[in-house]
Amino acid sequence: MSKSLQAIRGMNDILPEQTPAWRYLERTVAELLDGYGYSEIRLPILEFTELFARGIGEGTDVVDKEMYTFLDRNEESLTLRPEGTAGCVRALLEHGLSGGGQVQKLWYTGPMFRYEKPQKGRYRQFHQIGVEAFNLAGPDVDAELIVLTWRLWQKLGLADSVSLQLNSLGSSEARAAYRDALVAYLQERFAQLDEDSQRRLTTNPLRILDSKNAQTQALLVGAPTLADYLDEESRLHFEGVKARLDAVGIRYEINHKLVRGLDYYNRSVFEWVTDKLGAQGTVCAGGRYDGLVTQLGGKPTPGVGFAMGVERLILLLETLQLLPEELNAPADLYLCAFGEAAELAGLALAERLRDAIPGLRLLVNSGGGSFKSQFKKADKSGARFALILGEDELAACVVGCKPLRDDAQQQNIGWDALPAHLAACLQA
Ligand code: ATP
Ligand code: MG
Repeated sequence: MSKSLQAIRGMNDILPEQTPAWRYLERTVAELLDGYGYSEIRLPILEFTELFARGIGEGTDVVDKEMYTFLDRNEESLTLRPEGTAGCVRALLEHGLSGGGQVQKLWYTGPMFRYEKPQKGRYRQFHQIGVEAFNLAGPDVDAELIVLTWRLWQKLGLADSVSLQLNSLGSSEARAAYRDALVAYLQERFAQLDEDSQRRLTTNPLRILDSKNAQTQALLVGAPTLADYLDEESRLHFEGVKARLDAVGIRYEINHKLVRGLDYYNRSVFEWVTDKLGAQGTVCAGGRYDGLVTQLGGKPTPGVGFAMGVERLILLLETLQLLPEELNAPADLYLCAFGEAAELAGLALAERLRDAIPGLRLLVNSGGGSFKSQFKKADKSGARFALILGEDELAACVVGCKPLRDDAQQQNIGWDALPAHLAACLQA
């Protein structure tokens, strides 16, 4: 027998029982971003590999180890997007959306692909909601992005379960000077570093700061800190961000070791983290990347953005039982019809009810069946009322309307009176 077909490890089906939560989150985010004036952009999932190599940077885990890259039939190297920012900037440049200093406030959502070790909260196909703002250099927009995520946590009931970590990476010059100092410090202690960090010392030394290795973390206690290298302009910028968060009353913790995995960040970086999901605790991460657009061939264009991990947020909502109950609300009505003539009349009636009652959730029995079997299905569906249409009802132009969730009596209602009757019943 052939081996049964399975999904690729780390790439999950989102089953019907899970999609209401996904739609709830997506809807909540879309409404929120709409309220802040951010527009949705939809981007391809496949891009030329070069985009990510240039945009994310060699020496990063994502580019060096995590990308799904292949040659297409035309021998061109393509990559399943590991993140959304690079593609967003590519689209911006391709369509001239950021020319002449035009401000763009954009968001997108969709699957991202990284070859990682699958575990709870970490998958190979995962979903992000990303938000990006272009041509705004000031701290006000950095703060706006944080403020709107904070509002999202409140809407979702997560405000007490996530906390904000903040840092400034300074200008790219300041960061480079700091990198040199850090490398010099760690070089002297090379033998004590974990293997990953030893490799990163040449490829991406700042990443060592968020090493999970305890011995490496201990070594870092005495290391120079980024704060000592911050340039004056970046310091003022950072003060501006903090002042705005203070004005709104958003609490944060300054974390000098927060550097972010992707290479293109400067100045503000932030993460919203939770202690409720184990090791995969970052639910939203972002920062400023003023150098990215030029790195991808555009004119200097300040940019700032973040991405949320949808799976992690849903896990968190599930863990904390914060998904609204009405997400699983059953149908309102289940229509049972017996015999061909009743079925035809029932179908027409069902459509009249849908016209008359906006948002009505009406299940029409499929596949025929005896009175008993249809009734059983009606009950199992969880619907509040069964509508019954047999030969007798058909002859009298009425429908039997039977409450399924209490002991109230079945009533026969004339077809013309039915929409108003049901609308009233469902309101109650
Ligand atoms: P991590 O340190 O957890 O690997 P990262 O720095 O690689 O995160 P980003 O590239 O900043 O993550 O992505 C933003 C967010 O997307 C993360 O904070 C997380 O919520 C989510 N995310 C990233 N990688 C994965 C993954 N493999 N599976 C599920 N969610 C992910
Ligand atoms: Mg990662």
